[in-house]
Amino acid sequence: MDIRYWNEEIETADRAGIEKVQLQKLRVQVEYALKTPFYSEKLNKAGISSADDIHSLADLRKIPFTVKNDLRESYPYGMLAVPKEEVVRMHASSGTTGTPTVIYLSDSDLKACTDLTTRSVVCTGGTKEDVFQNMMTYGLFTGGIVLHYGAENLGMMVIPASSGNTLRQFKMMKDFGTTIVHATPSYLLHIHGKMGESGVSKDELKFKKAFIGAEPHSEDIRLKIESLYGIDAYNSYGLSEMNGPGVAFECIHKDGMHVWEDAYIMEIVDPDTLEPLPDGEEGELVLTILHRNAMPILRYRTRDLTRIIPGTCKCGRLHRRIARIKGRSDDMLIINGVNVFPSQIEEVIMKVPEVGTNYLIVVEKAGELDKITVKTEISKAMLTDDTRDLYKLKEKIREKLRASMTISPQVELHEPGMLPVSQGKAVRVVDERKID
Ligand code: AMP
Ligand code: ZN
Repeated sequence: MDIRYWNEEIETADRAGIEKVQLQKLRVQVEYALKTPFYSEKLNKAGISSADDIHSLADLRKIPFTVKNDLRESYPYGMLAVPKEEVVRMHASSGTTGTPTVIYLSDSDLKACTDLTTRSVVCTGGTKEDVFQNMMTYGLFTGGIVLHYGAENLGMMVIPASSGNTLRQFKMMKDFGTTIVHATPSYLLHIHGKMGESGVSKDELKFKKAFIGAEPHSEDIRLKIESLYGIDAYNSYGLSEMNGPGVAFECIHKDGMHVWEDAYIMEIVDPDTLEPLPDGEEGELVLTILHRNAMPILRYRTRDLTRIIPGTCKCGRLHRRIARIKGRSDDMLIINGVNVFPSQIEEVIMKVPEVGTNYLIVVEKAGELDKITVKTEISKAMLTDDTRDLYKLKEKIREKLRASMTISPQVELHEPGMLPVSQGKAVRVVDERKID
């Protein structure tokens, strides 16, 4: 049976209704935040010592921004607002194995988070009759488990397939009658090329929808996925700091992603001046989560660049929509859905004594997947005709990179002075992928 809304009252609330809920919840979040060492200091400095200092939503601007590094510096428990026994779940951002950015959820946080992912699934027309094959990676990453819970909560049969094992993905899709999948767009395109090998043909599948997210992609990529599989693909946006999936999702009209504004306050700011921008202008998305008692995060600079789509959506929801993510205001790379900071790579390679001073990171497409190559100069002392030594060094660097990140780049060694040197600011990354 088709249902249009999961929580009709809140999904169809008018702006005044949404803002009323936002203010109430913001005040609660501020109370929780004040229980943490991190925010009590920060908020007190800003003149906020209790929720009574927040009179209106405009007072949000009194609160200082929070950035990714704040989470790293408060690792592991500096931002926890409840006793540890009340935490029922933790997650971490994809990628790094250095100091990760970790989030904690209490039982009520988890219920609220699950409710949002169920709502997201319903807004794409998903129902309990659907069979949901979740091809996002399970583990610390929110992409897998968080949407899993939402789909299960709706009553769908969930196949926790995780990513990888391509041929089996098609077999499961056929055998279990999968109707919806969740994956990164690059993975969906990649596995399409293997369908023939799997012995399963498109006609044997009941596949009709895909939720795609975790990495930037263009409208053309969506259209390609839709036409290759003969399905509808819906953009899904989230980040671990804000619970992962279920922050913003496209509805059946596929015209921008509704940000669930009863659960998040969104601001779009100029990434340089940090001043607010009017609806329609592109800037950095700043989010305040409104249902995180265990670990409140106020005014989080996502670094993702987008704009609010003016006007209302045909679906009747007044929760405003954001356009697909255009890029980032920092240098974070997303390699097949995994976050990678060039500085992490630098840190690893510069600890290898045989490595020289210059390096370059090149990101490109290899088929449908992303490929990352780390080109590094070797030190003069390493100049040798013995290719075995060079081979060993290459493997050593590769192994160190693999151990400190969840990706495995190609490594290329160059003679000293052979990599380009830029005149001004060093160019360390060449990203040849095109987003639009
Ligand atoms: P993580 O914290 O590992 O889940 O990574 C979150 C980041 O992935 C976001 O801040 C975005 O940069 C990126 N991301 C997630 N969903 C999307 C999407 N639908 N489109 C573009 N980028 C996305
Ligand atoms: Zn809509």
